[in-house]
Amino acid sequence: MDLTLSPSEQEFRDELRAWLEENHPGEDPPGDDAAFEHRREWQRKLFEAGFAGLAWPKEFGGRGATMVEQAIFGEEMARAKAPSPINVLGLVMGGPVVIHHGSEEQKERWLRPILTADEIWCQGFSEPESGSDLASLKTRAVKSNGEWLVTGQKVWTTYAHRAKWCMLVARTDPDVPKHKGLTYFIMDMEQDAVQVRPLHQITREPEFNELFMEEARIPDENVVGGVGNGWAVAITTLMNERAGLGAASAVSVRIALDELRELARERGVADDPLVRQKIGQLTIEVEILRLNAWRGLTQLAKHGVPGPEGSLPKWQWSEINQALTELAIDILGEDGAAWDSPWAYRFLRARANSIEGGTTEILKNIVAERVLGLPKLR
Ligand SMILES: Cc1cc2nc3c(=O)[nH]c(=O)nc-3n(C[C@H](O)[C@H](O)[C@H](O)COP(=O)(O)OP(=O)(O)OC[C@H]3O[C@@H](n4cnc5c(N)ncnc54)[C@H](O)[C@@H]3O)c2cc1C
Repeated sequence: MDLTLSPSEQEFRDELRAWLEENHPGEDPPGDDAAFEHRREWQRKLFEAGFAGLAWPKEFGGRGATMVEQAIFGEEMARAKAPSPINVLGLVMGGPVVIHHGSEEQKERWLRPILTADEIWCQGFSEPESGSDLASLKTRAVKSNGEWLVTGQKVWTTYAHRAKWCMLVARTDPDVPKHKGLTYFIMDMEQDAVQVRPLHQITREPEFNELFMEEARIPDENVVGGVGNGWAVAITTLMNERAGLGAASAVSVRIALDELRELARERGVADDPLVRQKIGQLTIEVEILRLNAWRGLTQLAKHGVPGPEGSLPKWQWSEINQALTELAIDILGEDGAAWDSPWAYRFLRARANSIEGGTTEILKNIVAERVLGLPKLR
């Protein structure tokens, strides 16, 4: 991939940079509800300016942006320290999945409200006994009078308490091999048969939830990609998730590294040989991450769908972010233990990086088997 910007790409960057300077929404206000509405408004603003769903085709309300423009967008958002849009699961996963596997009616129904953040999406994949081994999931969907009745439990469902729609994978045929008996549904969260219970993270935030379904109803037209084809659709979702995480995180971690250098200067340890060595190592790793993220984008540009290459940046990013925030806490000493220290928050939140969106061990298996072509364990 050619990493120099063409005149039109430079023009796009300059336009976006100027727009962000004028329209930056500022920090989230205190309180979960107020912060949520603030981010929703921010996404609407992005949408009106043509900056939501950047990669989505124009016919579906996106911008049809090239991979390079998307990378520029990520860079400029991070450089401006602009918050991410609220409907991130819909933008990064739900929308691309519907565009790729959905019918015309489904595209017509669901895509635009994702872009405008009128309808928030969540992802109901993981269960108490099925995370990495997702295909073993037990939530059942049974067809009855032309609709599906879903019973089971999901867990760690980010934004379930805000969501209108859930990307739900359920078992529709228990008598075939586990990967073949799954179906991908879009479930309406606004029904009594769906109960959402918040879970608090180590950061104290109730970002994710448990989800209980007792004969929740899903009309047949909300099946995406066909009955029994849920595994293939789920894989598209996960590859989009990792590609999205990889590209955006490569930028955010570079900004965090600048902040870490600033912190080392402020605290008078910038010349400490051990701190210098650790920051030097992180600088190398951040650059490698950037190049690998571009490699993932090249794959996406060539084939239209993200490939297993997206797993590598996601794994690298989680390790870098954890090492980087740990070093910040070391530099801060006892001040790093204060609840209201932003670095303490980032340190604690980073614990989840090597679990969310696929654990590091699973990503290493994917890279070994599907990128490097090493022999399979099983
Ligand atoms: C912040 C956060 C947000 C999340 N949001 C969502 C969401 O919105 N929707 C959703 O569906 N899920 C979500 N998850 C769940 C996440 O996808 C799972 O936690 C993850 O897939 C791991 O599953 P598990 O927790 O069941 O761990 P397990 O799969 O039980 O794994 C436990 C340990 O065993 C290791 N392991 C398992 N299998 C293997 C293997 N074959 N080879 C080597 N090691 C292995 C794992 O790496 C891990 O260290 C979220 C998680 C977090 C932390």
